[in-house]
Amino acid sequence: MPIQTLHQPTPLFYAHALSRRLQKNIYFKMDCHQPSGSFKIRGVGKRCQEAAAEGYRHFVIASGGNAGLAVAYAGWKMKIKTTVVVPRSTALFMQQKIKDLEAQVVVHGSIWNESNDYAQQLTKAADCIYIPPFDHPTIWEGHATVIDECAQEIAAPDALIVAVGGGGYFCGVAQGIERNKWSKTSIITAETHGTASMHKAIKAQKLISLDKIDSIATSLAAKKVAAKALDYALKHQVSSYTVSDRQSLMACRSFLDDTGILVEPACGAALASVYNNMEILNAHQTILVMVCGGSSLSIEAFNQYMRQE
Ligand SMILES: *Cc1c(COP(=O)(O)O)cnc(C)c1O
Repeated sequence: MPIQTLHQPTPLFYAHALSRRLQKNIYFKMDCHQPSGSFKIRGVGKRCQEAAAEGYRHFVIASGGNAGLAVAYAGWKMKIKTTVVVPRSTALFMQQKIKDLEAQVVVHGSIWNESNDYAQQLTKAADCIYIPPFDHPTIWEGHATVIDECAQEIAAPDALIVAVGGGGYFCGVAQGIERNKWSKTSIITAETHGTASMHKAIKAQKLISLDKIDSIATSLAAKKVAAKALDYALKHQVSSYTVSDRQSLMACRSFLDDTGILVEPACGAALASVYNNMEILNAHQTILVMVCGGSSLSIEAFNQYMRQE
């Protein structure tokens, strides 16, 4: 029997209203439609399958976000025990989504680093494995399938927009671009001002560790990107931009109005480029936006953020 993937092929939409308004061709790759709510299941799911094949019978991850959800989904699908360690700041509705996938939620630590230290301790048992959220070659290989799917439907676009946290999705996209020979496609990375670890690394041409993270785009909150992500960024002459939290939120709202789908601010950072017709797009006619998705924004949380403005 062929090995099935845990992710599913997602649709590629032509964004009619937006394309007309910008006088460009804008495409949305709808990875928000993955069963775990974000692209994460592509690569993280592949790593979980690999670990299961290696004989591991218990997955552990530290994440109150989409990586936690993806591992929980993988565990549920493969009937493998899963523990998701989350910091106290994790919204109850996110904890519930993880529990609904029959994973055990352990609340530990006030910030992610503390949850992560605890998760590492849990993996001392021989059949237990720690699943990293972004920094692993198998994860990049899995994420690269997103470009294989796009390449079946459209020719290489002029530009591709991808949100960057630790750079796992970005590494996958870069790999996918290489293996599908999309050599004319410029990659543009998106972050919020408060999570600009990739933007700063590209400017400095070396890895930069942020002193602090300050943004509602929690899925982009990696203080430092993976070393491989910087390698790819320099090799592909990647350009980068950052937007405010408010711009991300407003892009989420416009996207909701256009498609009926609510994505989180991390994804809004990528969408903000097209919804604001940002200058960085000027030289490009056909643009593919990776709609990475994400489950961390509820309508209630959205309204709350708007009131805080
Ligand atoms: C994880 C995530 C990101 C960032 O991905 P990295 O692989 O860490 O760069 C962006 N958007 C969403 C919705 C995510 O879940």
